[in-house]
Amino acid sequence: MDLRLYDPFINMTFSEHACFLCGTIVNDAEKITVFPGWLQKRYDLAGKNLMLLDQSTVSFGEMKIPCCPNCEKTVANSDEKVQAATEKGLAGFQELEEKALFLWLAKIFYGILVAELKSERAPLIKPEHSVGENPKMLQKFQSFFMLMQALRVPVEFDDFTPASIFIVPLKQESNEPEFNYRDDITTMMFSLQLDNVLIVANLLDNGFLRKALTPVWRKIEGQELYPIQAAEFAARVYYAAYLFNLVPDYFVRAQKPGDTQLIYDTLVDDITGSIFNPWENDVYATALEKFWMPWHITREQILQNPDFPLSFLLDENGWFRKLESWEIPA
Ligand SMILES: [Zn+2]
Repeated sequence: MDLRLYDPFINMTFSEHACFLCGTIVNDAEKITVFPGWLQKRYDLAGKNLMLLDQSTVSFGEMKIPCCPNCEKTVANSDEKVQAATEKGLAGFQELEEKALFLWLAKIFYGILVAELKSERAPLIKPEHSVGENPKMLQKFQSFFMLMQALRVPVEFDDFTPASIFIVPLKQESNEPEFNYRDDITTMMFSLQLDNVLIVANLLDNGFLRKALTPVWRKIEGQELYPIQAAEFAARVYYAAYLFNLVPDYFVRAQKPGDTQLIYDTLVDDITGSIFNPWENDVYATALEKFWMPWHITREQILQNPDFPLSFLLDENGWFRKLESWEIPA
């Protein structure tokens, strides 16, 4: 069994003719879509556009990455597992092995990342804003890519979970299929709404966000959130990711002849600073305002009490707020 890892970031090779996952040379036709076919079909995405960081647009259907036949099979396996889980709705997601969900999310996130790196109007791999010039970003992408190799090479993550993944049940106002996604490349944040399930994930934090947000998560876990509450929760996770300082490193444990899998160990750089920068309500309010855009709630409204920003998730005592009706302060 071939246990060699591939790393396109060493030479920043994102050729149309190198398999995204293993680097094998492929022909023009050997491509897969970033968003799986079944997902596009279910939510009628193919013709819809998503916007990249440089404001250029690409349709979900056109967004493709080169992929060799072998990796196509392993990606298809990953897809099938998640597709089967989604058919059972929320329970399906909750039962799904976290590693399987992580790898599935990782492949989509990576596809978007590659599109960002190559986007025509302002490619991030051009010298003037190359990720190669930003050692911290490069280190993040390399660590992340090394984790994603677990899609094609059997890898055991020894004693760590690479990501924080929150599965949030949503109250849905209609029965129409509903799909949303959001990402933030620099903080490795990714969220997807599939009908009444919202997945909010940090794909490279070794579970630190989950730990940091445990006090909030404990109060809301299992509750069906209204969209305004789910947006607030997502804002908290995205803001916490922005405060997160560390970049985990991964190492392959020494192999013995006959090994059929790799074992990764992790090292989180020993702590010269703090794991998280301090939470500042006025910066958080700016993040929250963006997530609450559909409700037209302004920063000023959020910060009426600067020590206790407006929350539809928790009450003044820090307990889950069961929203029957609510008012946005004037
Ligand atoms: Zn391949």
